[in-house]
Order: sequence, then structure tokens, then C-alpha cells
Amino acid sequence: MFYFRTITVNPPLPERIERLRELSYNLWFSWNSQAWELYKGINPGLWERVNHNPVKFLLRVRREELERAAADKNYLKNYEAVMASYDRYMSGEKWYSQVHPRYKDKTIAYFSAEFGLHESCPIYSGGLGVLAGDHTKSASDLGLPFVGVGLLYRHGYFRQIINPDGYQENHYPDLNFNEMPITPEVGENGLDFTVSVELPGRTVYIKMWKAQVGLAKLILLDTDLPENMEEDRKITGQLYGGGREMRIAQEIVLGVGGVRALKALDITPAIWHINEGHSAFLTLERLREMVSNGVPAATAREAIRANTIFTTHTPVPAGHDVFDRHLAEIHLAELCHDTGMDCDTLLELGWDAEQNEFNMTVLAIRMAGFCNGVSILHGEVTRQMMHRFYPTIPVEEVPVTSVTNGVHTCSWIAEPWKNVFSKYLGEDWIEKVTDTAFWQRISEIPDQIIWDTHVQLKNQAIAYIRDRIQEKYRRNHETDAVITDAGEVLQPDALTIGFARRFATYKRAALIFSDPERLATILNDLERPVQIVFAGKAHPKDVAGQELIKKIIDYSHEEPFRGKILFLENYDINVARHLVHGVDVWMNTPRWPMEASGTSGMKAGMNGVLHCSVLDGWWPEAYNGQNGFAIGNPGDMQLNEHQQDRNDLYYLYKVLEEKVIPLYYERKNNIPVHWVARMRNSIRTIIPHFSTARMVMEYAERLYLPAIDRGIAFMESNYAAAEQTCRFKRFIQENWHHVRVEHTQSNGRWDMKAGEELVVESVVRLGPINPSEVAVEITLGNDKGPYISNLNTIVMELKEKLGEGSYRFAGKVPLSQGTYGYTVRVRPVHEYMTFKFEIPLVRWAENF
Ligand SMILES: *Cc1c(COP(=O)(O)O)cnc(C)c1O
Repeated sequence: MFYFRTITVNPPLPERIERLRELSYNLWFSWNSQAWELYKGINPGLWERVNHNPVKFLLRVRREELERAAADKNYLKNYEAVMASYDRYMSGEKWYSQVHPRYKDKTIAYFSAEFGLHESCPIYSGGLGVLAGDHTKSASDLGLPFVGVGLLYRHGYFRQIINPDGYQENHYPDLNFNEMPITPEVGENGLDFTVSVELPGRTVYIKMWKAQVGLAKLILLDTDLPENMEEDRKITGQLYGGGREMRIAQEIVLGVGGVRALKALDITPAIWHINEGHSAFLTLERLREMVSNGVPAATAREAIRANTIFTTHTPVPAGHDVFDRHLAEIHLAELCHDTGMDCDTLLELGWDAEQNEFNMTVLAIRMAGFCNGVSILHGEVTRQMMHRFYPTIPVEEVPVTSVTNGVHTCSWIAEPWKNVFSKYLGEDWIEKVTDTAFWQRISEIPDQIIWDTHVQLKNQAIAYIRDRIQEKYRRNHETDAVITDAGEVLQPDALTIGFARRFATYKRAALIFSDPERLATILNDLERPVQIVFAGKAHPKDVAGQELIKKIIDYSHEEPFRGKILFLENYDINVARHLVHGVDVWMNTPRWPMEASGTSGMKAGMNGVLHCSVLDGWWPEAYNGQNGFAIGNPGDMQLNEHQQDRNDLYYLYKVLEEKVIPLYYERKNNIPVHWVARMRNSIRTIIPHFSTARMVMEYAERLYLPAIDRGIAFMESNYAAAEQTCRFKRFIQENWHHVRVEHTQSNGRWDMKAGEELVVESVVRLGPINPSEVAVEITLGNDKGPYISNLNTIVMELKEKLGEGSYRFAGKVPLSQGTYGYTVRVRPVHEYMTFKFEIPLVRWAENF
């Protein structure tokens, strides 16, 4: 190896179209199809070959081609229109500064191990990355002062190739960063900006790159620098590659390096959003920073909690990173030293005592004042999972909320639909994405238009699939006959089901094959044929997932499935786009409740592709009986794995045979009118609620703004509020053992009348704790045998001081019909607490 520096030399762009370069470096192009057309129009073949990467396109395109475009009136007209729309976007006032002007310069830092923005930046693996990318795009649309922080993987996530034996091969591309829509961050001297982090026995240098995503900025960290040791250059080599040691090094670069990078770039975030546990080390770096500025560690911790948000994305254990003690200890040694904490105290912050390991999710939960799951159901599941860390409080009060995921509408809605919306609903439909009432107007679009638009997209998707299959066959040296045949796979008129996602076991990709004969009958019906297109990658270490892919590929080559079951290789944003635009049904069969949210069904549903899914993740929130299909009933879910597989299989075939297929083939004047009604219903209900526009507004208003306020309040007057919170917590913890509900009496009888009041009186001993520092509550809920749920709490009033730290409290509740359990409890309260159980202590009445 030898050292070299890189320069990039572009062809000169004709003056008339010289802003094509500027445009190529703003990922705004990725969700504006007219902007794509400016490149594609010059040389469509090249545009495909460079994988829709405009930077690479401009490096390859011939000068004459550019000149020809610059002399073409039509081209120039489109060019002017796109640039005008780009300028409007970049300078126009946005929602955030209109509605929340006070916060318009309070930077939101969003850390994520992957960002899925576009196929030209393959630094994502799946749903988590695409969500982070869509979050960033909507943050830009809404005008949030937003900066993302991620890693720039030299080899990205692998490119999947299916070899002639039907096995997945993993190819790691060697990305040339100079040909991607990103730019290096350079200092005033024109040289690369670097920061560094300490790993055991060495320092690792990190270079910063910038991706511009509309108005939002994304900082990407890169350790592939000559000043680093060979091993360390690989830290930002592969996404989710390597062993535990590599993972912890990556997470230190992301978390610790990310905080330092922002500082070097003079960016001071007002809040910090940890998107999945990978980046949770950012909290420890902030701790180190504050402690080195003289803030006591415990106070610093409160200040960090005040403006840190953590989003957890999966109940699957493999999605939560854990490290053994030794690994955590040697990697955090430097931080321990700098924070003056002993290593045990620092490790304690992320320690999972039950599993005896350091857990990034636990660290994030303990260091973030605000935590959320990604659908209502996932919020519940997460509260249950986390309950073991809050054993004293009821599971429903575990301080984890939920913000349901969404997708970036403009990135995922097909161009023909955008045109239909513009024509029938008005050009400004995109500004009304979250307006539920506005989308009622979808009924104004005639059936014929809806169906024709879909058929057009379906034909495009089929053409694309055929091309891709032929490409695979050519590469695998199949015979000409096989290749020619592949040009005719899939019948355009047959009901087409899409199933594309990571091949994680819980997603049960092969569920539909459980009864191959029945499936064969369904697919081969002469009058009502059905075909299924699969796509998806299995993690390189997931042998079971790879076997599943092989199994599906084997089926696809055998009678009676040949030509009816297809597997498309290398599922990425580009493949996803074609499939969610152009199949008829989007199928999802996760094992309940493992799908935290799922987002591909939202992409499909917005395009009128009907979602057919187990009622898991986001689907129970969206499904209304008429906007797609449900596999099974919500009540059936609490079964064991085996029962669930059997049950879901039964309902899967049933819904296909009795609902999906008949509805699709029932035609009136060649239009499946009832199907079209569902398509309309799907578009109408899914666009306004499952767009990242709604999601980011919800993050902003429910989490970001309170966290910004809290962060500011906690830092003021030299961290006075943080200090006070810290003292209060310590005082409560030390004295909570005094607290007791001594005596309770009430008018409760077993046969009360609706409208009557339940009157309760308690004597509570608090010891040295002041009555203003606690809430004494009547807690009323549904009687669930050993516990009560759906809690309703009513604060009781202080009536009398009884001396010696005892007090009399009283309260009352009007009763409505039903059976209830009730009791009395005491919990600490403080003006600075945002959540009820920020201090997870409670004392329940023992008997009364
Ligand atoms: C949307 C998307 C996903 C996530 O889809 P799920 O429904 O969560 O499985 C994964 N990969 C790609 C390429 C996507 O576009």
C-alpha cells in the first residue's frame, strides 16, 4: 500500500445548465422525480448504470451530451422549472418556524447507525435505515433545524447476488466516496477536518463528510484514513459486520466521535435523539465533557437526561447490542478516567444485572429522559420488556411512550400518482399530506383513473422484474432459451403479491409454503391465477434466513411454481420502490408481536397497493376493515409460536381464497370496482397518518420541544435545576423506606350504584419527606385478578397534619358502571419531573 490523495475532476458543465452539479449534491433530487429526469433525460442507459447517482452521472457523461441538452428548448424548460422548485423549497418558510418560531435555531441532533436515503448511498441495511432517512427528509420539509450523525461505510451493507445454486452471496462494494452525493468537511485551510476517539491503546482519527438532505444536514464519519492502523480503518468498513469488538469500536466512533464531530463543526445541539441503542455512547461523551467543565457527574447526568430522546425499534433480542464486562471495561477506560468515575460506576449506567452484560438499550433508557417505541403496540411490548427495570411500578406506567413510524410520502409515492393527485386534488396536495379531511377528496378521482394508474405502474414493475431476472440469468450463464423465457415471466393480468423484507426469522417469509399443495392450487387457478414476488436479504450470519431464501428459490424453479413464484435479488430502496408501486397486494406475515412497526406496507398502501398482514406493528392502528386485509383476528394473538404459526397459516389461506382473490377478479366493465374502493380507502387513510410528516411533527411537539425546554432549564444558572433534581432524587431514595400507607378507610361496598362517589381517606407516614414532595393517589382500574389495569389515578388532598411525619389525606371519585379494583398509593413528585415515574418509587397501601 502507498499513500495518495484524491482529487475529483468534473467535465465543465454548459453555463445554461451548470446548476446540475449543485443539484446533484443535494439529496432533494431523490424525492423529486422531475429532478431525476434532468439526468436520466440526457442518457437513460448511463443513468441506470450509475444506479441513479447524479454525481457519478456527471463524472461519466460525455460533454457533447451535455451540450446537446443545453441546446434543447424542452430540456431547458424542465431544467428551469426544477431549479425554480428547488429554490422555492430551499428558501421558503416551513412549518416549524411558522408554528414554533421560538425554537427555530435550537439544533436537533439525530444519531443513527444507518441512514437509507437513496440507492446512490448504500449505507443502510433495512427498515431502520430507511426510517432514519425518511425522518431526515421530513425534518427538512418541515424546516426543523436538524443534523443527522451516522457512519460512512466504505463497503456499505452487502450487495446480494443469488448464485446458480440458489444461495445468497454477499458482495461488498468498494464505495468511492468522491462519486457519491456527499462532500468532505474541510477546515479553513482547505484540509480535511478530523476528530479522534481513544480505543484501547490507540487513538483513532475520524474524517467528516456531509450529505445535504434538502435543508437538513447529515454528518457521516469515516475512519478509513492513512493515519489509522489497518484494523481501525475497517471500523467504518461494513454495516453490521465483524464481531463484538468491531461493533463496540463502531459504536464508540458513532457516539463519542459523533459528539466530537459536532463540536468541531461548531454545532451545539439543543437536544440529542438516539435512534436505536447503537449510538447511546453519545451520552457518556457528553458526561465526560460536562465533568471536565467542573459539573459533578450526578448533576451532569440529570442535565443529559433532560434533553436526550431514545427511540427503540425492535423487541427482537438480536436488535439490542450487548457487550461483556471485559470488552466494555477496556473500551470505556478512557471515559472512566476522564469523568473521574470508577469503572464500576460508569458501567452501572448500562449494566443489565440479570443478564450480566453491558446493554446499549439499557444505557440509552437510563440516560434519556424521553423514550419511545415505534407503534402503539410496540410501545406496550416495550413497556413489558422494560418492566424488569421498573419492578415496583405498574407495567402500563413504565415511562416509555410511542410515536408510530411513517414513510416519506414524496420518496415513496409513484410519479403517476403524484400527477393524478395534482390534477384532481390540486398542485398543493403535498402541503396537505397530514390533512385527514383533505384526503377525503380522493373520492373525486374516478374509478377508471385509479385503476389505469395502477395498471400502468404494474406493467412498469413487471418489466423491471423481468429485466432483473434476465440480468441474473445472464450473469449465471444460463442458456439463451432460459434467458428469453425469463423475459415473459409473470402474467400482467394475474393477481400479484409482493413480499419483500429482511429475511429475519420472525418475519416468516416461507409461511405461505407451509402447505405447498394448497398454495399450488391457489396459484394455478386458470380463471383466477396468482403470482408472488419475493425479495430480501438475510444477514450474513443468519444461516436460517439464508436457508429460507434458498428454499424459496428452489420452489421458484420447480413445477408447479415455476414462473409464479419469483425471487428478486438485492432488495434495496430501488427494488422496494418498484415493488411497492406496482404489485397488487403487499403481504406481511410477522410473528406477533415482533414487528415493531414495519414500514413497507405503508409505502405500498399509499400507492393503493393493498396491505394484507397479521395485525402486528402499525397495522392494527391503520386497518379499518376496508383499506386492506387482515390475517387473523386481534384476539387470537396471545398464542405460543407453534399455535400462532398454525393459526396464521389458516387465516392466510382463508383471506386469500375468500377475500383477496374473489375481490380482485370481480370486474364491472373490466374494472374491479370493489378492489378500487379499497385502493381508494387505503390511499385516503394511509397517506395522512403514516407519513413521516405526521411522525416528525409528533416527535417535535411531543418530545423535541419539551426536551429542548427542559435542557435549557436544566443548564441555566450553572445547572441549578439539574443539581436540585439530583439532590431531590437522592433525598427521596434515602428516605423512601419511611413512607407507608398506615391506614385507609372508604365507603366502598361490593354493590355500589353508577354515579355514586367512592370516598377514600388514608393516613400516610412520610417521615422526613414533605407532603408537597409526594402525590397520594386513589388508584382505580379494571380488576384483572392479581393486578389492576387501565389505571385511573385521582390525587388526594392533604387534610390534616397528625405529627411525627404522619398526615391524613382524603379524596373521592365518581363511579361509572363496571367492576373495579382500587387502592391507595404514594409516589414522589417534583416540579422538574416530566414523567410520573421519573423516580420509579411507589408505596402501595398494604391492606384496608
Ligand atoms: C421500507 C424498507 C424496509 C422496511 O420494511 P419492513 O416493512 O419494515 O420490513 C426494508 N428495506 C428496504 C429497502 C425498504 O425500503
